[in-house]
Amino acid sequence: MINNNKEGILELTLELVKVPSFSCSQGEIELANFIYDILKELEYFQKNKDNLKLLEIANDELGRSLVLALVKAIPPTSKTIVFIGHYDVVDVENFGALKEIAFDPIKYTERLRNLPLNEDAARDLESGNYLFGRGIMDMKAGLAIQMAFLAEASQNPASLNANLMFLAVPDEENNSAGMRGAVPYLVKFQEEMGLDYIAAINCEPSSPVFPGDTKRYIHLGTVGKIMPFFYVVGKETHVADWADGFNPNLLLSYINILLEAKAKFIDGKEKQFFSPPLCLKQKDLRDAYSVTIPGKGVAYYNYLTVTKLPKKILMEMKIIAEEAFNMTIRHLNDSAKEFCKISGRKVDIPWKAKILTYQELFESVKQNFSGDINEYVRKFFKTLTDDLDERERCVALIGELLKFYPDKDPKVIIGFLPPYYPHRGNLRQTTKEKNILEVVNEIIDFARKEFGEELEIVEYMAGITDLSFFGFQGSREELVFLAENMPGWGNLYDIQIEYLVKLDVPVLNIGPSGKDAHKNTERLELDYSFRVAPKLLKLFVEKLSQKGTK
Ligand SMILES: [Zn+2]
Repeated sequence: MINNNKEGILELTLELVKVPSFSCSQGEIELANFIYDILKELEYFQKNKDNLKLLEIANDELGRSLVLALVKAIPPTSKTIVFIGHYDVVDVENFGALKEIAFDPIKYTERLRNLPLNEDAARDLESGNYLFGRGIMDMKAGLAIQMAFLAEASQNPASLNANLMFLAVPDEENNSAGMRGAVPYLVKFQEEMGLDYIAAINCEPSSPVFPGDTKRYIHLGTVGKIMPFFYVVGKETHVADWADGFNPNLLLSYINILLEAKAKFIDGKEKQFFSPPLCLKQKDLRDAYSVTIPGKGVAYYNYLTVTKLPKKILMEMKIIAEEAFNMTIRHLNDSAKEFCKISGRKVDIPWKAKILTYQELFESVKQNFSGDINEYVRKFFKTLTDDLDERERCVALIGELLKFYPDKDPKVIIGFLPPYYPHRGNLRQTTKEKNILEVVNEIIDFARKEFGEELEIVEYMAGITDLSFFGFQGSREELVFLAENMPGWGNLYDIQIEYLVKLDVPVLNIGPSGKDAHKNTERLELDYSFRVAPKLLKLFVEKLSQKGTK
């Protein structure tokens, strides 16, 4: 029994928090089963067993599942609203000695009374209106709100004007394997059951933007994230013969100077701008000490998007790589001249800028390869040790392919590393998008009049979310281009392109409220989250369901 009221949602939230469902752990499987079992108890799913499912995520090494529950409106309609939420949480390393009680918010909140906290957290603790704990705000309260609403609706499907689909996924805090795995299922239901998705609603929490900010935020979209890489092939040489070599570190430094935090690359729209590209890793690819300059190096960048697509970004990266290459050659030429002046020894710098996309490298190797290159790549990944993450595996593959590439001169290989999150915004183009906007404005009025709450529309959620995968706001060719330029695509990471392009679901995030996601002061604001937020969600669903979609 789930009660769709303050007490019922709190109780359910605490139950969900209790399961330590870290990303990529057994806890995810445990929590999926737990959610499934709770929903199974509902009379509706007792009668409609096929409408509640644990759906396997294809090719998931951990064997994880999605929980899918569908309450069909009476009389039947194709209109369907999807509630999407993630049930995984980030780790609790930052809880220190209190790790053990991180999943018991009542105990943990009590224990915090004796510990030093920052001013804002201490004030919130004192107010009695907050519960602290891992996962309580990100995002188990949101899941509980969705489940409670679904439970209530299931008692009276005749009250619905649209079907309600609840979809709970794992791995959101990692690579979104859950949501990516859900895409083919969503398409299958769309095609086989004739469902017409009119909105995908996430209930991630809203947080104050600045200290003292009392507004709540409704998001109409989600920012995109792409990770361009630069793999630099240099030339090893003993330091005594410095001018014979080419140090990849120098070229990577120039790339960093041209790209790091540069405002001109910021992708922005509608007065909302995001962080510029930032380097997440830059290193040479040599582990041991040696008096030889290293032969290879790599760097990759975090690049946030709201309009830019893979082709355009790789074009930008190509220009940067070329410019950095030429700066490196100039740098070496200047040094050579100076060196000549001091030593009287003439040295030549023979290098020319060479840039290849990953696709060009792969195609060229493939042509001269005897045997099945794809099979070779699959086997190669199996030889790598478990401690390497997906990005390191991709980088290792580039190194392996280069062994088969005849030209050994210095060069830069450019492409993308996983994961990729397409941006998704409300473009005000389709009736569905416009309907969402209209209803959001009605909700804002209602919240002001009924609860004295100020809600504000934000175009794109700044955090990366699963809402990225409810369609693709670009051409299929862009995704194919991405795939062809991402080492390990299909082995380590992929997006089901043929399915993704068949979805076009406008998205929305309207959730509870809390602060400090991922920190040890993660906390949920109780009154708003359990009294106000569920009513706003309910009204949103009711009003949106009544709208025509043509
Ligand atoms: Zn979250």
